[in-house]
Parts: sequence; structure tokens; C-alpha cells
Amino acid sequence: MKEHIYTIPVTDGFNKGGECPFCDMLKTLEKDSVDYILGPAYMTDTIRLETDKTGFCEKHIKQMYDKQNRLGTALMLSTHLDKINSFLDSEIASYSFVKQKKTFFGKNKETNSNIPSYLNNITNSCYICNRIDTYFERYIETFFYMWSKTPEIKDIVINSKGFCLKHFSMLIEKGETYLSENEYKNFLKIIFTVQQENLKRLKEELEWFINKFDYKYKDEPWKTSEDALIRSITKINSAYVEEKNNDG
Ligand SMILES: [Zn+2]
Ligand SMILES: [Zn+2]
Repeated sequence: MKEHIYTIPVTDGFNKGGECPFCDMLKTLEKDSVDYILGPAYMTDTIRLETDKTGFCEKHIKQMYDKQNRLGTALMLSTHLDKINSFLDSEIASYSFVKQKKTFFGKNKETNSNIPSYLNNITNSCYICNRIDTYFERYIETFFYMWSKTPEIKDIVINSKGFCLKHFSMLIEKGETYLSENEYKNFLKIIFTVQQENLKRLKEELEWFINKFDYKYKDEPWKTSEDALIRSITKINSAYVEEKNNDG
């Protein structure tokens, strides 16, 4: 299949051969986004303006901290705090401590304070989440473009392990937008079969994994089941967990 710069992340996701190529795309995208923000990006004014506005979510600030670029993270949080402080200073200086009367419709006529909405906004937004969402939407669009234009992608999907439940459902929904009626019909037929086969395959692997805890099967081989639990977690919960020893 002829690769273009924009098809590489999609093909790479499928090449990983995991329980969900889209989860694998997201995993790489997340790692790249954390590296990006802690690379030269955080010194760029336009990006700092963005990060000052959005901040970071709990998960991503932890990942940034774990990257051990403490100076980069500190600089970003420093200008972010400047913005928060100047907002709070001006809001609190003009704060009215009188409780607002409700209007006829039960809503506050004019809210006393912009503080909760401002803080809710910055504590619920994240530069990295936003970046991931933007890129991921492009990956989905590219995947469907490939589906329409490059026949090889069908074989790649047929030979894949299917998708996690969340992304299987996403494909059903998004396919309707991106594909023609005939393409969509054909697409659904293929992904339904792939998904059913692979959910059953995984169920068998998980069953063998459970059997292996029974002394009767102690000396039997693991077959493909040694990591069946962590793969089931990816398939069902779209999550990646570290492998634990098979000691119960
Ligand atoms: Zn997934
Ligand atoms: Zn985030």
C-alpha cells in the first residue's frame, strides 16, 4: 500500500497487531503530545497562550511531571498561574457579596460571580486532550479515506484483532458520515464479522487463562493466553495495564 505522511499513524496503529488499532494510535498520539509540549513547543508564545487558557487535566499533568522536564512544566504552570491570579484579582476586587435574587424563570438574573464558570472551564480543559482530539479526528477521517481509496486496508482490517468496544461503536457511527451507502454496507459487514470472531477468540483465550489457575491445568501450556487478561482489559475498557505475574 502506498504510504502518505498522513496515512502512517493509521497504518502504524494496525501494524501493532493489538486488540484495538485505534487505542494504539491514541497511545502513540498521547506520548507524542506530551513530548511535543515539553519539547520546544512550550517556549512558543502562541502555544503558551493556549496552555495558559486551557491548563492540563490530572492525567496529563502527571505524565508531564513524570517526563522529568521539571523546568518546562514549571514555566508553563507559572504563566498559567499569572493568568489565574490576575483574573481572580480583578473579580474579587469587584465582588458583590449580596445573594442574587432569582428571576421568574428560576435563573439568576445576573450571576454574582464569574469565578465558578471561569474555574470550571480551566479545570475541565486540557491542552493535551484537545491536541489528541484534533489529531485523532484526522486519523479517523484518514482511515475512512483509505477505506474508500485503497483496497489493501480491507485485508488489514480483516486480518486485525478487531477493535475495543468503544472504537468499534465509534466506527459504526463515523462510517455513516464518511462512507457512501454501498461502502458503508460493505464496511459494516466486514467489521461485524471481524469483531464477532475476535470477541469470541478473546473469550476462549480468557477462559484458558482462567483454567490455568486450576491445578488440573498446571502443566498445560499457556497457548496464547498468558496475556489474555490485559488484552481483555484493552478490548473491553480501552485501557492499558501493566502485566502482572500469573500468581493469582
Ligand atoms: Zn480502542
Ligand atoms: Zn488531558
